[in-house]
Amino acid sequence: MNTIILKFGGTSVADNIKLNVVAKKIIDLKKEANNIVVVVSAQGKRTNQLIKEAQELSAIPQEREMDMLLATGEQVTAAKLSILLNRKGHQAIALTGWQAGIVTNTIHTSAKIEKINTKRIEEELKKEKIVVVAGFQGVNENADITTLGRGGSDTTAVALQVALKADKCYIFSDVDGIYSADPNMITVAKRLDEISFNEMQEVADAGAKVLHNRCIQIGKKFNCDIIAKSTFSEEGGTKICQQIETAEVKSIVKNEKLEVIQMEKKENIQETQTYDIYQNLLQNNIIVETFQKEEKQIQFRIKKEQQNKVQELLESKYPDYEIKQKELVKLSIVGYGIIQDARCIKSSSRNTKKTQNRNNRY
Ligand code: ADP
Ligand code: ASP
Ligand code: MG
Repeated sequence: MNTIILKFGGTSVADNIKLNVVAKKIIDLKKEANNIVVVVSAQGKRTNQLIKEAQELSAIPQEREMDMLLATGEQVTAAKLSILLNRKGHQAIALTGWQAGIVTNTIHTSAKIEKINTKRIEEELKKEKIVVVAGFQGVNENADITTLGRGGSDTTAVALQVALKADKCYIFSDVDGIYSADPNMITVAKRLDEISFNEMQEVADAGAKVLHNRCIQIGKKFNCDIIAKSTFSEEGGTKICQQIETAEVKSIVKNEKLEVIQMEKKENIQETQTYDIYQNLLQNNIIVETFQKEEKQIQFRIKKEQQNKVQELLESKYPDYEIKQKELVKLSIVGYGIIQDARCIKSSSRNTKKTQNRNNRY
């Protein structure tokens, strides 16, 4: 019997009508004699809403408590979908991340999956149940709930594909595959039938939210193809897989969720202090890009979602610096070998780089 993983994102499960569409899809695939493991995200914009509610109580909530709060979004979806499937006459069971055996490290809000104890899922599959797993979450060695970072349900799905040695993993969303640019912004963007793991990794790292970057890393590491499809159409789809060389621009990505931090001092900044600042950022799990030091200034990029945390950390630890924040929009051009082969970027300037950053909007 084939085992397949089906992951449904927030827009696909946003309300009861959509949950019914999802349930029908699952039941059709179950009828083809498959073992079905479903991974779900929180409904619609629920995660954003929960973050907003927490920030109304505290500007910088504790990360452990945020994990406890945000994990509930996915649990609600899993329980609702399981209730619906059972009502439609198909035995289903909803599991939280920890019930599904997903063990992570202790880094709250961006935990990594260390192992998956598949026993419980396998037992339920043997009973011919549809297993509905709450995505984006796990449990750490302290028995605390952790979350995998924004968009992390994709990573739950691909990690389960590997752990269960599943035959296929479908990531269903509101778009029918991976496009040459965000199809909701660029209407002439083209859908790709296939994209390599390396290219997809670059697309995800550059900030296209269509797939979580860590799910691509897992797919690549274990050579498990991932299929991106639409929940609402049978057409289309993109396979993310190993590819031999190609040289063309595959995708253009606009990332507006970055912030530049500038730390300025009246006198020259010592190397030891630079090192201390960098270490402090890393120890606080702040993802830092392009860390640069000049005589009296340090500049680096962070994710916008970490801006409050960074501001508080820097102000408390380094009161003798003036700290400025600037919005950044990054535009990246992704494609295997495009640095070596300028013909790929016919309409771009001669010195176009593989990843190009601009500080202005377009
Ligand atoms: P889900 O809620 O199902 O996880 P996401 O919102 O995370 O879905 O990802 C799907 C969205 O990704 C699309 O609605 C689209 O706007 C956006 N997107 C950005 N870049 C791309 C791209 N290159 N191809 C397809 N979709 C993209
Ligand atoms: N609900 C989480 C988020 O919005 C995880 C996910 O959707 O994959 O980031
Ligand atoms: Mg997503």
